[in-house]
Amino acid sequence: MVSTPEVPGPSMDAVPTRYGDTTFRSRLEADWAATLDGNGIWWEYEPETITLDSGTLYLPDFWLPELGTWIEVKGPGIPRTEKTEELARIRACQCEGSCTCRWPGGEFVLLGKPALASDWNEPGHRPRSGYADWAAPFGPTAYFVTCPACTRAQWITLRRPWRCRACQALLEREQVHRPVDRFVRFVETSTRTGLFAMPDLGEPFTDAELGLTDGREDDVP
Ligand SMILES: [Zn+2]
Ligand SMILES: [Zn+2]
Repeated sequence: MVSTPEVPGPSMDAVPTRYGDTTFRSRLEADWAATLDGNGIWWEYEPETITLDSGTLYLPDFWLPELGTWIEVKGPGIPRTEKTEELARIRACQCEGSCTCRWPGGEFVLLGKPALASDWNEPGHRPRSGYADWAAPFGPTAYFVTCPACTRAQWITLRRPWRCRACQALLEREQVHRPVDRFVRFVETSTRTGLFAMPDLGEPFTDAELGLTDGREDDVP
């Protein structure tokens, strides 16, 4: 099977961005790293190339070792998520009966999206960079929760039993949050390090959104 490589669109998003000791392929990836740091979540960047069942090679963006979770960051110029969906499917729990996976429910895969804007009509504190937005590429919706036993912030599904992915404590009584709840503050590397002091113009439109192409993804040179 021949697969077309994912070519990022001609957006500011694809500019290599340094954050900490790592150079990320895009600013959005660096921002997600800063957001994970801001929530005390241990991450590794592009640690492993995975061969999917289809034979396709896939290099997911982040692995969260304590949580058994992969994150694929998807900017607006990169619409396809087939590889991420396949990874989510093959790494999910396959246990017959009660789950005995290293992480409850098996390895988990999350799509990290551009931030949701702050609501400027909302009174009180509003984070300048907005709120983290995410989705599950396959299976039930992902909810954000903080484990009261080990204090680790993480994403889970509401497939029972709800257990902490790190320490397996039951989370049945905890408050869980969807992205629309605007609970997880998004951190931009530009506001954190001061190294990228460009004005925050938000995410640019893609050519397809502006009607400059016929929408085919291979129009990108
Ligand atoms: Zn299992
Ligand atoms: Zn825990």
